[in-house]
This record gives sequence, structure tokens and C-alpha cells, in this order.
Amino acid sequence: GLDLDKITTVIVIESVATGRSTSFLTTFSVQTAIGMLPIVWFGTKEQKEKYLPKLVAGEWIGAYGLTEPSAGSDALSGKTKAVLTEDGKDYIINGEKIFISNGAWANVYIIFAQVDGFKFSAFIVDRDTPGFEVGPEEKKMGIKGSSTTSLKFMDAKVPVENLLYEVGKGATIAFNSLNLGRFKLGAAELGGMKETITYIINYALDRKQFGQSISNFDVIKGKLAQMVILAYTSDSMIYRTVGLIQDEIDTLDKSSEKYYLDMGAAMEKYAIETSMAKIYGSESMTYVLDEGIQTMGGYGFMEEYPLASAYRSDRINRIWEGSNEINRQIITGYMMKKALLENLPIREAIGKIDAFLTKPPDRNDTDPLWREKNAVDTGKQMSLFLFHKALNEFGQDLKHEQQLTEILANMFMELFTAESTISRAKYSVDTKQADPIVLDIARAHTAGVSLSLL
Ligand SMILES: Cc1cc2nc3c(=O)[nH]c(=O)nc-3n(C[C@H](O)[C@H](O)[C@H](O)COP(=O)(O)OP(=O)(O)OC[C@H]3O[C@@H](n4cnc5c(N)ncnc54)[C@H](O)[C@@H]3O)c2cc1C
Repeated sequence: GLDLDKITTVIVIESVATGRSTSFLTTFSVQTAIGMLPIVWFGTKEQKEKYLPKLVAGEWIGAYGLTEPSAGSDALSGKTKAVLTEDGKDYIINGEKIFISNGAWANVYIIFAQVDGFKFSAFIVDRDTPGFEVGPEEKKMGIKGSSTTSLKFMDAKVPVENLLYEVGKGATIAFNSLNLGRFKLGAAELGGMKETITYIINYALDRKQFGQSISNFDVIKGKLAQMVILAYTSDSMIYRTVGLIQDEIDTLDKSSEKYYLDMGAAMEKYAIETSMAKIYGSESMTYVLDEGIQTMGGYGFMEEYPLASAYRSDRINRIWEGSNEINRQIITGYMMKKALLENLPIREAIGKIDAFLTKPPDRNDTDPLWREKNAVDTGKQMSLFLFHKALNEFGQDLKHEQQLTEILANMFMELFTAESTISRAKYSVDTKQADPIVLDIARAHTAGVSLSLL
């Protein structure tokens, strides 16, 4: 309700994630993103007036129902149907949604259904809608304090006023909401990482074996260092991305009726980076939790300590908001689109590749990260070259060569992260905002990226 910017959104979600309640984080994240944004972005004046004040105040809880038994990753293939009544006053909805967060306690549900069987559309469904039923709680591996239920629609009667936006525009609503949702997931993982690493470092400092703190052992130092590198690099790429998104949003006309549609388009412009933030954040957190438990030894395995439950709860983050496999397909898919529209300097890079490979690196002794910048430039040339080769070999069918598109997505993601880290580290040290240790983080990370690219 305060109309704060997207950078603040990231700071808030990071902070909520440090609260050590992944279940509350789930409830809060659904409420403030996919459960509410479809109304903020696509709702009519009346819909906004009716639903938003209560949702924003937390008096009402929101939920988002896209997934169905036969439509998970292939979300647009849902079978739930909506048919307009003869008098044109209501839609009659039939079908089932599964795995819906906030299901048991929501008052308002954003539901996707096929109008006339094929026009994918979104509706606002009130909890007391006749013919609408909430299923029992699922028994889950983690986030056990959150609610996850199925939803049943048996001739559920939803007034036409509750259609969101337009018939057939459900995909726009679904994907715009997910774009921000998955970005916030990356930011939440970042907050969780910082909290977890602080906990693990304190544990390692306290725990004594062989007469000394285990933090003195070289392998433990290596694990802690890698955790810090992952947190710093995630932080760099996530805040860079949200800065880019906010710059784009700041160019929009706030008084325009299309403001929120334009905001959705601005977010979509950074769909690649958004998917990267989701993958990189969730996979970095996987490392932190796994090696965190290893650092704690048997104590890490005990429920009495916080990492065991965090480990189970965090597992969902590589599955929902588009599984990491789907997000990798999104990255390479959008890059293919850019290549096709000639928005990527592929031809230029290919034309210059021989000259690039034979010229010595740009040495600049006044820049402590000149080697790393050269490494990223080389990585970019290499990845564009490989992308070009792959496109030549497979054309549009490259999208079916998923083992290859995953490798390409990883290259693009690693390079974006390395570049973000290098710029941020250099700027922070130049402006005396950070300890020079961040230069070492950038060096160690870029070395790892270069090796994995090779
Ligand atoms: C606790 C929990 C809460 C949830 N909350 C919500 C919610 O609030 N609202 C909602 O709508 N949904 C929700 N979901 C659903 C969630 O978004 C889906 O589980 C997720 O999208 C994956 O779908 P699926 O489970 O059907 O897996 P599937 O789509 O069957 O995928 C199975 C495997 O195949 C892979 N795969 C699928 N398609 C491809 C492809 N084209 N290329 C490569 N690999 C592929 C996947 O990556 C995955 O590894 C929730 C799920 C859980 C577990």
C-alpha cells in the first residue's frame, strides 16, 4: 500500500527470510506476490477496491491456483473449464487444482480456467462461492507450518465481474505474476543464506575437536569460504537485476491506465535474469544447507538444531515457481529469441573471434580485477561462439536438445553472476563501502566460473 519500489521489495523479502520460519515465508510470499499481484496488475477499479485493502492489511489471505493433477510444469494445459451462463451473469467452473499454498486459510483465490475449453483465463474466486470446496491438508516433506491443499470446483458459480482482465489473457497474468514470484524466491534464498551462514560460522567457531575450533581446519574454512562466495555473488546478481528492473519501471508513466501492464512488460524484459536469480539463489542455498549440515556433523542431522528442518523445507525451491529445469529452458529460449531478432551481438562476436583469441589481454594495473574482467570477456566470446555453433547445427530444434540448452543456460548465468560480482566488488572497494576481501571473492569466483566454462 505504500507504493514502495522493487528494490525495497527485495530488502523486505530478504529480511522475512532471515526470520527462520520457512512456513511463514511461504504464506507471506504467496500473499504479497502471486496471491495479490494479479489483482494489482490486472484488476478493475471495482476489483481493486473490493479486494486489495483487505489483502494488503492481512485481513484476507490470498492464494493462486494454477497447478492441476495433469498440468504442472505444462501449466497452460489445465483442464479446469469455465462456461458463461446463458444470462451472461456468471461463469460455471468445473475442475480441480492441486498443491495450492495458503489453500486452507485463504479468503480469495486467483484461479485459472479454460473458457469454453480453450481460452485460458483467470478469475477471482471467493472462498464462499457455491460449488467451491477446499481439500484436506497435504502431508509434506518441509514447510509443514504452511498450508497446501487441493481445490475442487463442482459447478462453482463465479460472477462475471470476477473475471480478471480479459478472456484468453490468463497466460499473461500467470507469467507476469510468476516472473516477480520467482525473482522474490531468489531474494528470499539470499536472506536465508546470510542467516544460515552466520549460524554455521558461529557453530564452527564454538565447536572444538582435536583441541581446537573446527573453524581452524582447512576443509571447513574452504566450505565456509564457498558459502560466503555464493552469498556475495547471489547478492550481486540479484540487486543488479532489481536495479535494472527498477530503472525500467521508473521510465513508465504512472498516470497511464496501462501502468501495471507496462510494469509487467518491464519485468518480462528481464525474464532471463529473473530465472537466473531463481536458479542461482536456490542452488546456492542447497550448497549452503548441505555443507552447513556437514560442518555441524551429527548435530546438523538432529531436529533439535535448525538446519535439519531448513534442509527439508528448502528442497521445494528448486521445484516450484517453475522448476529449475524449466527456468533453464526459459533462459536459453529467450536467448534464442534474441538471437533470432538479432538482439545479440553473435555475428559480431564470430567475426572478431580470431582477432580476439590472438590479441593479448587488456592489462590495466590500476584495476585490481583486470584479469577477471578479461576472463569474463573471454567467457562471453566463448559462449556466444558455442551458442552460434549450436544454433547452426540445430536451428529452432535446439530447444529440444535440452542437455545442451542447460549447458548454455549455465554459461550465461555464470557469466552474468561473475560480471555482476566483479563490478560490484570493484565499485564497493573504490568507494570504500567494503573491505578489500570482496576483491578476493570476485577473484575466487571468477576463477571457478572460468574453469567450469572450459
Ligand atoms: C509445497 C508446494 C506448494 C505449491 N504451491 C503452489 C501454488 O500455490 N499454486 C500453484 O499453482 N502451484 C503450486 N505448486 C505446484 C508447483 O508449482 C508444481 O509442483 C511445479 O510447477 C512442478 O509441477 P509438477 O509437480 O506437476 O511436476 P512435473 O511438471 O510433472 O515435473 C516433473 C519433472 O519433470 C521436469 N520437467 C517437466 N517438464 C519439463 C520440460 N519441458 N523440460 C524439462 N524438464 C521438464 C520438471 O523439471 C521436474 O523435474 C506447489 C507445489 C508444492 C510441492
